[in-house]
Amino acid sequence: MKSSKLRFNPNKKKKWPIVVTVIIGSILIIVPVIWIGIHNWNLDKSLAALNLEQKTAEQRQIADSQEELQDVGGDPSEEPEKNQTPDEPKESPKPPVEKPANNMYEPNQKYPKVPTTKNGLIIANKQHPLPIDYNKGEDIIARSAFNEMAAAAKLDGFELVAFSTFRSFERQEVLYNQYVEKDGEQAADQYSARPGYSEHQTGLAFDIGEKNFEQHWAAATFGETPAGEWVAQNAHLYGFILRYPLGKEEVTGYMHESWHFRYVGVEPATDMFTHKQTLEEYLDL
Ligand SMILES: [Zn+2]
Repeated sequence: MKSSKLRFNPNKKKKWPIVVTVIIGSILIIVPVIWIGIHNWNLDKSLAALNLEQKTAEQRQIADSQEELQDVGGDPSEEPEKNQTPDEPKESPKPPVEKPANNMYEPNQKYPKVPTTKNGLIIANKQHPLPIDYNKGEDIIARSAFNEMAAAAKLDGFELVAFSTFRSFERQEVLYNQYVEKDGEQAADQYSARPGYSEHQTGLAFDIGEKNFEQHWAAATFGETPAGEWVAQNAHLYGFILRYPLGKEEVTGYMHESWHFRYVGVEPATDMFTHKQTLEEYLDL
């Protein structure tokens, strides 16, 4: 008995390294095969997924929000039109981070036949909708003022783009309904205009961002970038106002939007800038 055990044991010991090698070898082969398999046998996808795993939580959040952009197809009140260049990223709905604005819509409000104006300025806010068929497209004077501002910004090292300007009633209707479906009416009203109420329908609203910094487009962070600060400080010289400033949510009806500018002309814009007034306050609406 004893001698047979002695004969058996050395044999068994010799087999162990082989068994372990085979097991480890199998794992090394099977795991990548399964990984590639669950990514539809696409090597690029598998490698990309591997990369994604290594991203920090913050990066993952960015990736998630970009995915959301593609799903929803546009920021609240801000959505690049289809006729824009394809490399422009879409904006995403940002839930209100600041104090939410009051819902100032009147129940059963009717669309007017002509737009409301005061001191020659068209008004589009939660109390004053535009006619459904008000459809003039992007305002050419506002566009040339923007181009002038962009040229000045470029000299200071910032390449500005207007990633969303005119938006029709019908387009806003599609967007708003998407947001209501996604977040509910109450939440959607905090960040998106109902059709007929968007300032973009006037053709005078310009959503401004910096080229190659798409991550700040239609984001609160734009206001903190040097380009965003430049626009905030200089827009009035070209006739634009920051339409929804921080701290004026109760007056404008919207959360702060550091990227949304409205063309009103140099003199009114300078007045409003100097006195820190919103359009509603300036026109005493
Ligand atoms: Zn806007």
